[in-house]
Amino acid sequence: KVRVRFAPSPTGPLHIGGVRTALYNYLFARQNGGDMILRIEDTDSNRFVPGAEDYINEALAWLGIGIDEGVREGGAYGPYKQSERRDIYREHVGRLLDRGKAYIAFDTPAELEEKRKSVPNFQYDATTRGSMRNSLTMKGGEVDRLISEGHPYVVRFKVEPGRDVVVNDLLRGKVTINSSVLDDKVLYKSADDLPTYHLANIVDDHLMEVTHVIRGEEWLPSAPLHVLLYEAFGWADTAPAFVHLPLLLKPDGKGKLSKRDGDRLGFPVFPLEWHPEGGEVCSGYRESGYLPEAVVNFLALLGWNPGDDSELMTMDELIKRFDLAHCSRSGARFDFEKGKWFNHEYLLKKTDEELARLFKPVLREHGVNPDDFTDEYIARAVGMVKSRIYFVRDLWDQARFFFVAPSEYAPKDVKKRWNADTPRIMEELTEVIRGIDDFSSAAAEKVVLDWIASKGYHLGNVMNAFRLTVVGECKGPHMFDITELMGKEETINRINRGRR
Ligand code: GLU
Repeated sequence: KVRVRFAPSPTGPLHIGGVRTALYNYLFARQNGGDMILRIEDTDSNRFVPGAEDYINEALAWLGIGIDEGVREGGAYGPYKQSERRDIYREHVGRLLDRGKAYIAFDTPAELEEKRKSVPNFQYDATTRGSMRNSLTMKGGEVDRLISEGHPYVVRFKVEPGRDVVVNDLLRGKVTINSSVLDDKVLYKSADDLPTYHLANIVDDHLMEVTHVIRGEEWLPSAPLHVLLYEAFGWADTAPAFVHLPLLLKPDGKGKLSKRDGDRLGFPVFPLEWHPEGGEVCSGYRESGYLPEAVVNFLALLGWNPGDDSELMTMDELIKRFDLAHCSRSGARFDFEKGKWFNHEYLLKKTDEELARLFKPVLREHGVNPDDFTDEYIARAVGMVKSRIYFVRDLWDQARFFFVAPSEYAPKDVKKRWNADTPRIMEELTEVIRGIDDFSSAAAEKVVLDWIASKGYHLGNVMNAFRLTVVGECKGPHMFDITELMGKEETINRINRGRR
Protein backbone atom coordinates (compact mmCIF):
# COMPACT_ATOMS: atom_id res chain seq x y z
CA LYS A 1 0.00 0.00 0.00
CA VAL A 2 1.25 3.45 -0.92
CA ARG A 3 2.21 5.48 2.14
CA VAL A 4 3.60 8.98 1.86
CA ARG A 5 4.41 11.63 4.39
CA PHE A 6 4.69 15.35 4.57
CA ALA A 7 7.33 16.07 7.17
CA PRO A 8 7.66 19.79 7.90
CA SER A 9 9.83 21.24 10.60
CA PRO A 10 7.87 23.73 12.72
CA THR A 11 10.38 26.52 12.28
CA GLY A 12 8.02 29.22 11.01
CA PRO A 13 5.14 29.62 8.60
CA LEU A 14 4.92 26.98 5.92
CA HIS A 15 6.35 28.35 2.69
CA ILE A 16 4.27 27.98 -0.47
CA GLY A 17 6.90 25.56 -1.80
CA GLY A 18 6.25 23.35 1.22
CA VAL A 19 2.55 23.52 0.50
CA ARG A 20 3.20 22.27 -3.01
CA THR A 21 5.20 19.34 -1.59
CA ALA A 22 2.29 18.52 0.70
CA LEU A 23 -0.14 18.77 -2.21
CA TYR A 24 1.85 16.42 -4.46
CA ASN A 25 2.11 13.90 -1.65
CA TYR A 26 -1.61 14.16 -1.10
CA LEU A 27 -2.50 13.80 -4.79
CA PHE A 28 -0.26 10.77 -5.09
CA ALA A 29 -1.69 9.16 -1.96
CA ARG A 30 -5.30 9.67 -2.99
CA GLN A 31 -4.69 8.53 -6.53
CA ASN A 32 -3.29 5.25 -5.24
CA GLY A 33 -5.71 4.71 -2.41
CA GLY A 34 -2.79 5.22 -0.06
CA ASP A 35 -2.19 6.96 3.23
CA MET A 36 -1.02 10.50 3.81
CA ILE A 37 0.99 11.05 6.96
CA LEU A 38 1.78 14.38 8.56
CA ARG A 39 4.93 14.08 10.66
CA ILE A 40 6.23 16.98 12.68
CA GLU A 41 10.02 17.06 12.55
CA ASP A 42 10.87 19.09 15.61
CA THR A 43 14.21 17.67 16.65
CA ASP A 44 16.06 20.92 16.14
CA SER A 45 15.07 22.64 19.35
CA ASN A 46 17.01 25.80 18.47
CA ARG A 47 14.80 26.44 15.49
CA PHE A 48 11.49 25.56 17.08
CA VAL A 49 8.88 28.31 16.69
CA PRO A 50 5.71 28.28 18.79
CA GLY A 51 2.55 28.34 16.72
CA ALA A 52 4.19 26.89 13.63
CA GLU A 53 2.60 23.47 14.06
CA ASP A 54 -0.90 24.93 14.39
CA TYR A 55 -0.18 27.04 11.35
CA ILE A 56 0.72 23.94 9.32
CA ASN A 57 -2.48 22.17 10.35
CA GLU A 58 -4.62 25.18 9.62
CA ALA A 59 -3.03 25.82 6.24
CA LEU A 60 -3.46 22.23 5.06
CA ALA A 61 -7.05 22.16 6.28
CA TRP A 62 -7.83 25.42 4.51
CA LEU A 63 -6.51 24.03 1.25
CA GLY A 64 -8.34 20.75 1.59
CA ILE A 65 -5.17 18.67 1.83
CA GLY A 66 -6.46 15.85 3.99
CA ILE A 67 -4.28 13.98 6.46
CA ASP A 68 -4.89 10.34 7.35
CA GLU A 69 -2.35 9.95 10.13
CA GLY A 70 -0.78 12.63 12.24
CA VAL A 71 -0.52 14.31 15.61
CA ARG A 72 -4.18 15.34 15.52
CA GLU A 73 -5.53 12.43 13.53
CA GLY A 74 -3.69 9.70 15.41
CA GLY A 75 -2.83 6.42 13.71
CA ALA A 76 -1.14 3.10 14.23
CA TYR A 77 2.40 4.34 13.66
CA GLY A 78 2.59 7.18 16.20
CA PRO A 79 3.69 9.26 17.88
CA TYR A 80 3.84 11.53 14.85
CA LYS A 81 5.91 14.21 16.50
CA GLN A 82 9.60 13.45 16.58
CA SER A 83 10.27 15.04 19.96
CA GLU A 84 8.00 12.33 21.38
CA ARG A 85 10.03 9.52 19.84
CA ARG A 86 13.30 9.91 21.73
CA ASP A 87 13.36 6.31 22.99
CA ILE A 88 13.01 5.01 19.47
CA TYR A 89 15.91 7.09 18.20
CA ARG A 90 18.13 6.30 21.17
CA GLU A 91 17.60 2.61 20.53
CA HIS A 92 18.38 2.97 16.83
CA VAL A 93 21.51 5.00 17.46
CA GLY A 94 22.58 2.17 19.76
CA ARG A 95 22.10 -0.34 16.96
CA LEU A 96 24.39 1.57 14.63
CA LEU A 97 27.04 1.90 17.33
CA ASP A 98 26.83 -1.84 18.07
CA ARG A 99 27.31 -2.68 14.41
CA GLY A 100 30.27 -0.35 14.07
CA LYS A 101 28.38 1.84 11.62
CA ALA A 102 28.65 4.87 13.85
CA TYR A 103 30.95 6.20 16.53
CA ILE A 104 30.98 8.60 19.43
CA ALA A 105 32.83 11.90 19.11
CA PHE A 106 33.78 14.39 21.84
CA ASP A 107 35.25 17.20 19.78
CA THR A 108 33.98 20.48 21.14
CA PRO A 109 32.69 23.22 18.87
CA ALA A 110 35.87 25.19 19.61
CA GLU A 111 38.08 22.27 18.61
CA LEU A 112 36.16 21.80 15.38
CA GLU A 113 36.42 25.49 14.63
CA GLU A 114 40.17 25.30 15.20
CA LYS A 115 40.44 22.44 12.70
CA ARG A 116 38.40 24.31 10.13
CA LYS A 117 40.77 27.22 10.42
CA SER A 118 43.98 25.23 10.24
CA VAL A 119 43.06 22.51 7.73
CA PRO A 120 41.91 23.79 4.32
CA ASN A 121 38.50 22.36 3.30
CA PHE A 122 38.32 20.40 6.52
CA GLN A 123 35.63 17.73 6.56
CA TYR A 124 35.02 15.19 9.32
CA ASP A 125 35.47 11.95 7.36
CA ALA A 126 37.66 8.90 6.79
CA THR A 127 40.68 11.09 6.05
CA THR A 128 40.43 13.13 9.25
CA ARG A 129 38.55 11.12 11.85
CA GLY A 130 41.80 9.42 12.93
CA SER A 131 43.11 12.70 14.28
CA MET A 132 39.99 13.66 16.19
CA ARG A 133 38.70 12.91 19.69
CA ASN A 134 36.35 10.01 19.11
CA SER A 135 35.73 6.40 20.03
CA LEU A 136 37.78 5.27 17.03
CA THR A 137 40.93 6.96 18.33
CA MET A 138 40.36 6.71 22.08
CA LYS A 139 40.53 3.77 24.42
CA GLY A 140 37.20 2.22 25.43
CA GLY A 141 37.73 3.02 29.08
CA GLU A 142 38.37 6.65 28.27
CA VAL A 143 35.17 6.89 26.25
CA ASP A 144 33.11 5.39 29.08
CA ARG A 145 34.76 7.67 31.61
CA LEU A 146 34.00 10.84 29.64
CA ILE A 147 30.40 9.77 29.17
CA SER A 148 29.91 8.94 32.82
CA GLU A 149 31.45 12.28 33.77
CA GLY A 150 28.76 13.91 31.67
CA HIS A 151 30.88 15.27 28.82
CA PRO A 152 28.63 16.07 25.90
CA TYR A 153 29.19 13.98 22.80
CA VAL A 154 27.69 13.34 19.42
CA VAL A 155 27.26 10.16 17.45
CA ARG A 156 28.61 10.34 13.92
CA PHE A 157 27.84 8.11 10.96
CA LYS A 158 30.92 6.24 9.77
CA VAL A 159 30.89 6.75 6.01
CA GLU A 160 33.07 4.22 4.18
CA PRO A 161 34.99 6.13 1.51
CA GLY A 162 35.43 5.26 -2.17
CA ARG A 163 32.04 3.77 -2.90
CA ASP A 164 29.51 4.76 -5.51
CA VAL A 165 26.22 5.49 -3.82
CA VAL A 166 23.20 5.33 -6.09
CA VAL A 167 20.06 7.29 -5.37
CA ASN A 168 17.15 6.07 -7.39
CA ASP A 169 15.00 9.09 -8.04
CA LEU A 170 11.75 8.42 -9.89
CA LEU A 171 12.08 11.73 -11.65
CA ARG A 172 15.77 12.07 -12.17
CA GLY A 173 16.74 8.45 -12.67
CA LYS A 174 19.88 7.13 -11.01
CA VAL A 175 21.92 9.80 -9.30
CA THR A 176 25.37 8.45 -8.45
CA ILE A 177 27.73 10.05 -6.03
CA ASN A 178 31.02 8.89 -4.53
CA SER A 179 30.89 8.34 -0.78
CA SER A 180 34.28 10.03 -0.37
CA VAL A 181 32.68 13.43 -0.77
CA LEU A 182 30.30 12.79 2.13
CA ASP A 183 31.19 13.71 5.69
CA ASP A 184 30.54 11.72 8.84
CA LYS A 185 27.25 13.38 9.64
CA VAL A 186 26.15 13.88 13.20
CA LEU A 187 23.20 11.58 13.90
CA TYR A 188 22.60 12.26 17.55
CA LYS A 189 23.52 14.82 20.19
CA SER A 190 23.76 13.84 23.83
CA ALA A 191 23.35 17.46 24.93
CA ASP A 192 19.64 17.49 24.14
CA ASP A 193 19.20 13.73 23.81
CA LEU A 194 17.84 14.18 20.32
CA PRO A 195 18.76 12.82 16.92
CA THR A 196 19.48 15.06 13.98
CA TYR A 197 17.14 15.31 11.02
CA HIS A 198 18.89 12.58 9.04
CA LEU A 199 18.62 9.84 11.59
CA ALA A 200 15.11 10.65 12.75
CA ASN A 201 13.87 10.98 9.20
CA ILE A 202 15.21 7.59 8.07
CA VAL A 203 14.12 5.74 11.19
CA ASP A 204 10.63 7.19 10.97
CA ASP A 205 10.21 6.59 7.26
CA HIS A 206 11.17 2.99 7.87
CA LEU A 207 9.01 2.43 10.94
CA MET A 208 6.06 4.26 9.42
CA GLU A 209 6.41 2.08 6.31
CA VAL A 210 6.68 5.02 3.97
CA THR A 211 6.84 3.83 0.37
CA HIS A 212 7.56 7.11 -1.44
CA VAL A 213 9.56 10.06 -0.20
CA ILE A 214 8.33 13.08 -2.15
CA ARG A 215 10.13 16.24 -1.12
CA GLY A 216 11.87 19.35 -2.36
CA GLU A 217 15.01 19.34 -4.45
CA GLU A 218 16.93 20.94 -1.61
CA TRP A 219 17.03 17.49 0.00
CA LEU A 220 18.63 15.76 -2.96
CA PRO A 221 22.17 16.31 -1.59
CA SER A 222 21.13 14.47 1.59
CA ALA A 223 19.71 11.51 -0.28
CA PRO A 224 23.02 9.57 -0.68
CA LEU A 225 23.53 9.74 3.06
CA HIS A 226 20.00 8.46 3.51
CA VAL A 227 20.66 5.57 1.16
CA LEU A 228 23.73 4.66 3.22
CA LEU A 229 21.73 4.85 6.41
CA TYR A 230 19.13 2.42 5.05
CA GLU A 231 21.97 0.05 4.25
CA ALA A 232 23.59 0.46 7.64
CA PHE A 233 20.34 -0.49 9.35
CA GLY A 234 19.87 -3.44 7.00
CA TRP A 235 16.75 -1.90 5.47
CA ALA A 236 17.98 -1.39 1.93
CA ASP A 237 15.40 -3.79 0.46
CA THR A 238 12.45 -1.85 1.78
CA ALA A 239 13.87 1.63 1.32
CA PRO A 240 11.31 4.05 -0.13
CA ALA A 241 11.42 5.41 -3.64
CA PHE A 242 12.59 9.02 -3.86
CA VAL A 243 11.17 11.94 -5.77
CA HIS A 244 12.87 15.30 -5.47
CA LEU A 245 10.58 18.04 -6.74
CA PRO A 246 11.95 21.01 -8.67
CA LEU A 247 12.47 24.29 -6.88
CA LEU A 248 10.02 27.12 -7.13
CA LEU A 249 11.81 29.96 -8.87
CA LYS A 250 11.41 33.72 -8.76
CA PRO A 251 9.03 35.11 -11.41
CA ASP A 252 12.02 36.06 -13.60
CA GLY A 253 13.39 32.54 -13.26
CA LYS A 254 16.57 33.76 -11.61
CA GLY A 255 17.00 31.84 -8.39
CA LYS A 256 14.86 30.37 -5.69
CA LEU A 257 11.62 32.09 -4.72
CA SER A 258 12.01 33.89 -1.42
CA LYS A 259 9.84 35.78 0.98
CA ARG A 260 11.51 38.98 -0.17
CA ASP A 261 10.33 38.47 -3.77
CA GLY A 262 6.79 38.37 -2.46
CA ASP A 263 7.23 41.59 -0.50
CA ARG A 264 8.92 43.32 -3.42
CA LEU A 265 6.44 42.29 -6.10
CA GLY A 266 3.38 42.32 -3.90
CA PHE A 267 2.26 38.71 -3.59
CA PRO A 268 2.13 36.28 -0.70
CA VAL A 269 4.54 33.36 -0.42
CA PHE A 270 2.66 31.86 2.53
CA PRO A 271 -0.76 30.22 2.53
CA LEU A 272 -1.99 32.06 5.64
CA GLU A 273 -1.05 35.31 7.24
CA TRP A 274 1.66 34.91 9.86
CA HIS A 275 2.41 37.18 12.78
CA PRO A 276 5.93 36.53 13.97
CA GLU A 277 6.68 37.62 17.51
CA GLY A 278 7.99 41.14 17.27
CA GLY A 279 8.39 40.88 13.50
CA GLU A 280 6.61 42.10 10.45
CA VAL A 281 3.38 40.39 9.43
CA CYS A 282 3.78 38.05 6.45
CA SER A 283 0.83 38.18 4.10
CA GLY A 284 -1.09 35.03 3.24
CA TYR A 285 -3.10 33.80 0.30
CA ARG A 286 -6.20 33.32 2.41
CA GLU A 287 -6.21 36.85 3.81
CA SER A 288 -5.34 38.31 0.42
CA GLY A 289 -8.61 37.03 -0.95
CA TYR A 290 -7.64 33.80 -2.68
CA LEU A 291 -9.96 30.85 -2.85
CA PRO A 292 -8.31 27.64 -1.68
CA GLU A 293 -9.36 25.84 -4.88
CA ALA A 294 -7.49 28.44 -6.91
CA VAL A 295 -4.33 28.12 -4.85
CA VAL A 296 -4.42 24.34 -5.13
CA ASN A 297 -4.88 24.44 -8.90
CA PHE A 298 -2.17 27.05 -9.31
CA LEU A 299 0.33 25.13 -7.17
CA ALA A 300 -0.43 21.81 -8.83
CA LEU A 301 0.77 23.23 -12.13
CA LEU A 302 4.04 24.57 -10.71
CA GLY A 303 6.20 21.58 -11.51
CA TRP A 304 3.70 19.34 -13.27
CA ASN A 305 1.48 19.62 -16.31
CA PRO A 306 -1.21 17.30 -17.58
CA GLY A 307 0.39 16.95 -21.02
CA ASP A 308 -2.35 18.89 -22.80
CA ASP A 309 -3.53 22.45 -22.40
CA SER A 310 -6.02 21.90 -19.59
CA GLU A 311 -5.49 24.35 -16.81
CA LEU A 312 -8.60 24.44 -14.66
CA MET A 313 -8.71 21.29 -12.59
CA THR A 314 -10.46 20.67 -9.32
CA MET A 315 -8.85 18.62 -6.58
CA ASP A 316 -10.74 15.52 -7.80
CA GLU A 317 -9.55 16.03 -11.35
CA LEU A 318 -6.02 16.61 -10.15
CA ILE A 319 -6.14 13.38 -8.20
CA LYS A 320 -7.14 11.56 -11.38
CA ARG A 321 -4.67 13.19 -13.68
CA PHE A 322 -1.61 13.94 -11.56
CA ASP A 323 1.42 11.97 -12.60
CA LEU A 324 4.39 11.89 -10.28
CA ALA A 325 6.77 10.47 -12.84
CA HIS A 326 6.03 13.34 -15.20
CA CYS A 327 6.81 16.21 -12.93
CA SER A 328 9.33 18.58 -14.39
CA ARG A 329 12.94 18.32 -13.40
CA SER A 330 13.82 21.93 -13.88
CA GLY A 331 12.68 24.69 -11.59
CA ALA A 332 9.15 26.02 -11.87
CA ARG A 333 8.80 29.73 -12.38
CA PHE A 334 6.39 31.35 -9.99
CA ASP A 335 4.03 33.30 -12.23
CA PHE A 336 2.02 35.36 -9.83
CA GLU A 337 -0.25 36.86 -12.49
CA LYS A 338 -1.28 33.32 -13.31
CA GLY A 339 -2.24 32.82 -9.69
CA LYS A 340 -4.56 35.82 -9.92
CA TRP A 341 -6.02 34.46 -13.13
CA PHE A 342 -6.85 31.18 -11.39
CA ASN A 343 -8.59 33.08 -8.63
CA HIS A 344 -10.62 34.98 -11.22
CA GLU A 345 -11.63 31.73 -12.90
CA TYR A 346 -12.67 30.10 -9.65
CA LEU A 347 -14.67 33.15 -8.64
CA LEU A 348 -16.51 32.87 -11.95
CA LYS A 349 -17.44 29.28 -11.11
CA LYS A 350 -19.42 30.53 -8.17
CA THR A 351 -23.07 31.42 -8.60
CA ASP A 352 -24.07 35.06 -8.35
CA GLU A 353 -25.83 34.24 -5.09
CA GLU A 354 -22.62 32.80 -3.60
CA LEU A 355 -20.62 35.80 -4.75
CA ALA A 356 -23.25 38.11 -3.27
CA ARG A 357 -22.86 36.36 0.08
CA LEU A 358 -19.10 36.80 -0.05
CA PHE A 359 -19.56 40.43 -1.04
CA LYS A 360 -21.79 41.41 1.88
CA PRO A 361 -18.97 41.84 4.41
CA VAL A 362 -17.13 44.01 1.88
CA LEU A 363 -20.21 46.22 1.54
CA ARG A 364 -20.34 46.57 5.31
CA GLU A 365 -16.67 47.52 5.41
CA HIS A 366 -17.50 50.36 3.09
CA GLY A 367 -20.38 51.57 5.17
CA VAL A 368 -23.17 50.04 3.11
CA ASN A 369 -25.76 48.00 4.94
CA PRO A 370 -26.46 45.02 2.67
CA ASP A 371 -29.83 44.57 4.36
CA ASP A 372 -30.98 47.74 2.63
CA PHE A 373 -30.97 45.71 -0.60
CA THR A 374 -32.57 42.45 -1.53
CA ASP A 375 -30.35 39.41 -2.03
CA GLU A 376 -31.52 39.33 -5.61
CA TYR A 377 -30.43 42.92 -6.17
CA ILE A 378 -26.94 42.24 -4.81
CA ALA A 379 -26.65 39.03 -6.81
CA ARG A 380 -27.65 40.71 -10.06
CA ALA A 381 -25.30 43.63 -9.47
CA VAL A 382 -22.44 41.27 -8.77
CA GLY A 383 -23.30 39.15 -11.78
CA MET A 384 -22.93 42.14 -14.08
CA VAL A 385 -19.38 42.99 -13.03
CA LYS A 386 -17.88 39.69 -11.97
CA SER A 387 -16.02 39.19 -15.24
CA ARG A 388 -13.80 42.11 -14.22
CA ILE A 389 -12.60 40.93 -10.82
CA TYR A 390 -9.66 38.98 -9.44
CA PHE A 391 -10.79 39.10 -5.84
CA VAL A 392 -14.11 39.49 -4.06
CA ARG A 393 -12.97 42.85 -2.71
CA ASP A 394 -12.65 44.10 -6.32
CA LEU A 395 -16.42 43.91 -6.53
CA TRP A 396 -16.56 47.12 -4.54
CA ASP A 397 -14.68 49.10 -7.18
CA GLN A 398 -16.74 47.60 -9.95
CA ALA A 399 -20.19 47.63 -8.37
CA ARG A 400 -20.19 50.36 -5.72
CA PHE A 401 -22.46 52.59 -7.82
CA PHE A 402 -25.25 50.03 -7.49
CA PHE A 403 -25.25 50.77 -3.78
CA VAL A 404 -24.29 54.42 -3.46
CA ALA A 405 -25.13 57.17 -5.94
CA PRO A 406 -22.07 58.97 -7.24
CA SER A 407 -21.15 62.09 -5.30
CA GLU A 408 -18.28 62.94 -7.61
CA TYR A 409 -17.91 62.59 -11.34
CA ALA A 410 -14.68 61.58 -13.01
CA PRO A 411 -13.18 64.94 -14.14
CA LYS A 412 -11.55 63.45 -17.23
CA ASP A 413 -14.87 62.04 -18.46
CA VAL A 414 -16.73 65.22 -17.58
CA LYS A 415 -14.30 67.25 -19.63
CA LYS A 416 -14.69 64.97 -22.60
CA ARG A 417 -18.44 64.30 -22.53
CA TRP A 418 -20.12 67.24 -20.88
CA ASN A 419 -20.79 70.44 -22.84
CA ALA A 420 -23.12 73.43 -22.65
CA ASP A 421 -26.08 71.51 -24.11
CA THR A 422 -25.73 68.46 -21.91
CA PRO A 423 -27.84 69.60 -18.90
CA ARG A 424 -30.76 70.38 -21.18
CA ILE A 425 -30.44 67.08 -23.04
CA MET A 426 -30.27 65.22 -19.74
CA GLU A 427 -33.43 66.90 -18.59
CA GLU A 428 -35.12 65.76 -21.78
CA LEU A 429 -33.79 62.28 -21.10
CA THR A 430 -35.51 62.18 -17.72
CA GLU A 431 -38.79 62.91 -19.45
CA VAL A 432 -38.19 60.24 -22.06
CA ILE A 433 -37.42 57.75 -19.31
CA ARG A 434 -40.45 58.73 -17.30
CA GLY A 435 -42.57 57.83 -20.28
CA ILE A 436 -41.16 54.31 -20.65
CA ASP A 437 -43.57 51.65 -19.40
CA ASP A 438 -41.48 48.58 -19.93
CA PHE A 439 -38.22 49.49 -18.23
CA SER A 440 -36.46 46.21 -19.02
CA SER A 441 -33.04 46.59 -20.60
CA ALA A 442 -33.79 45.98 -24.29
CA ALA A 443 -37.09 47.84 -24.32
CA ALA A 444 -35.71 50.93 -22.58
CA GLU A 445 -32.67 50.89 -24.82
CA LYS A 446 -34.82 51.00 -27.91
CA VAL A 447 -36.84 53.97 -26.69
CA VAL A 448 -33.78 55.96 -25.67
CA LEU A 449 -31.83 55.22 -28.84
CA ASP A 450 -34.82 56.11 -31.01
CA TRP A 451 -35.16 59.41 -29.18
CA ILE A 452 -31.44 60.20 -29.67
CA ALA A 453 -31.71 59.41 -33.37
CA SER A 454 -34.88 61.41 -33.87
CA LYS A 455 -33.25 64.45 -32.27
CA GLY A 456 -30.05 64.01 -34.22
CA TYR A 457 -28.00 64.06 -31.01
CA HIS A 458 -24.49 62.68 -30.83
CA LEU A 459 -25.01 59.11 -29.64
CA GLY A 460 -21.67 58.77 -27.84
CA ASN A 461 -21.94 62.07 -26.03
CA VAL A 462 -25.49 61.54 -24.83
CA MET A 463 -24.93 57.95 -23.69
CA ASN A 464 -21.70 58.83 -21.92
CA ALA A 465 -23.22 61.82 -20.18
CA PHE A 466 -26.09 59.56 -19.12
CA ARG A 467 -23.59 57.03 -17.79
CA LEU A 468 -21.69 59.75 -15.96
CA THR A 469 -24.75 60.78 -14.01
CA VAL A 470 -25.67 57.22 -13.07
CA VAL A 471 -22.26 55.60 -12.54
CA GLY A 472 -19.99 58.58 -11.89
CA GLU A 473 -17.55 57.64 -14.64
CA CYS A 474 -17.60 56.31 -18.17
CA LYS A 475 -17.21 52.63 -17.43
CA GLY A 476 -19.22 49.70 -16.20
CA PRO A 477 -21.60 47.11 -17.61
CA HIS A 478 -24.23 47.69 -20.26
CA MET A 479 -26.07 50.92 -19.43
CA PHE A 480 -29.60 49.61 -19.74
CA ASP A 481 -28.83 46.52 -17.68
CA ILE A 482 -27.76 48.91 -14.95
CA THR A 483 -30.90 51.02 -15.17
CA GLU A 484 -33.17 47.99 -15.34
CA LEU A 485 -31.77 46.81 -12.02
CA MET A 486 -31.76 50.25 -10.37
CA GLY A 487 -35.25 51.06 -11.54
CA LYS A 488 -36.80 54.10 -13.08
CA GLU A 489 -36.97 56.33 -10.01
CA GLU A 490 -33.36 55.89 -9.01
CA THR A 491 -32.23 56.41 -12.62
CA ILE A 492 -34.18 59.65 -12.91
CA ASN A 493 -32.95 60.87 -9.52
CA ARG A 494 -29.38 60.30 -10.52
CA ILE A 495 -29.72 62.08 -13.83
CA ASN A 496 -31.31 65.01 -12.04
CA ARG A 497 -28.54 65.19 -9.44
CA GLY A 498 -25.89 64.88 -12.10
CA ARG A 499 -27.15 67.47 -14.51
CA ARG A 500 -26.97 70.30 -11.98
N1 GLU B 1 11.84 18.15 7.97
C1 GLU B 1 12.25 18.27 6.62
C2 GLU B 1 11.72 19.58 6.09
O1 GLU B 1 11.46 20.44 6.87
C3 GLU B 1 11.75 17.09 5.84
C4 GLU B 1 12.48 16.81 4.58
C5 GLU B 1 12.03 15.49 4.02
O2 GLU B 1 10.91 15.42 3.53
O3 GLU B 1 12.78 14.51 4.12
O4 GLU B 1 11.54 19.84 4.93
